[in-house]
Amino acid sequence: MNRVIVITSGKGGVGKTTVTANLGTALASLGRKVALVDADFGLRNLDLLLGLEQRIVYTALDVLSGECSLDKALVRDKRVPNLVLLPAAQNRTKESISPEQMKELVEQLKPDYDYILIDCPAGIEMGFRNAIAPADEAIIVTTPEMAAVRDADRVVGLMESENIKTIRLIVNRVRPEMIQLNQMIAVEDILDLLVIPLLGVVPDDQQIIISTNRGEPIVLEQQESLPATAIKNIAARLEGKNIPFLELKAKREGFFQRILNFFSRLF
Ligand code: ADP
Ligand code: MG
Repeated sequence: MNRVIVITSGKGGVGKTTVTANLGTALASLGRKVALVDADFGLRNLDLLLGLEQRIVYTALDVLSGECSLDKALVRDKRVPNLVLLPAAQNRTKESISPEQMKELVEQLKPDYDYILIDCPAGIEMGFRNAIAPADEAIIVTTPEMAAVRDADRVVGLMESENIKTIRLIVNRVRPEMIQLNQMIAVEDILDLLVIPLLGVVPDDQQIIISTNRGEPIVLEQQESLPATAIKNIAARLEGKNIPFLELKAKREGFFQRILNFFSRLF
């Protein structure tokens, strides 16, 4: 199979690294061999989300400089067999690696992995170009905010000009109760704006922040949560399964909110 997928967004802080860590873990739990590549040189944090930061000895730059073999730089996740991380260097700038070098690293990984997921840095500068260079597919992550959707739209255009044919969307941090109150852009409206197929919707959930801080991907937690189900469904869709989208229902509104709604309808 050997699929190389870049997870990107344009805007920072929308959940790229969270999606990369959890989707990679979910795919590995399905028995796939998965390599996660941190392309965020300078601001790496994929290792933190995976709880692997203490185990990093070498980084991608050491592999490129011939300091160590690729195999030695890969950090293996002890909780999930078949999941490895290729760490980025933390104290270097994004210019310390070129798109050609990124391609070279991914080519070396390809024979051994079913999925190579590349966590892209924010922006559309050098780090972004490095991250998309080896990719055949892209997952665009956005939140339901105008600034994020506009940046996502720009990135979709750039992907198309890079000949990345398969581009799909994840809408992250969705809050149904806000959409119901017209305080948040609805997923359908985002799809109308971006015109790319939807891969999944992930609810805004504080469990994600807790799991991030714990260094334990939410998809591994004993107690199945809504965001974990959402990510597992995305993994299954990537595998070609036809899984219906989760219906994220708003909780029943409080009395005060219903009164507010009633009045807002009068105006
Ligand atoms: P990016 O890699 O795009 O900069 P991150 O994955 O680092 O974004 O996420 C930014 C912040 O948002 C983190 O603190 C993360 O825990 C939080 N976050 C991401 N997705 C969700 C979600 N669905 N619900 C709640 N918090 C989230
Ligand atoms: Mg990130």
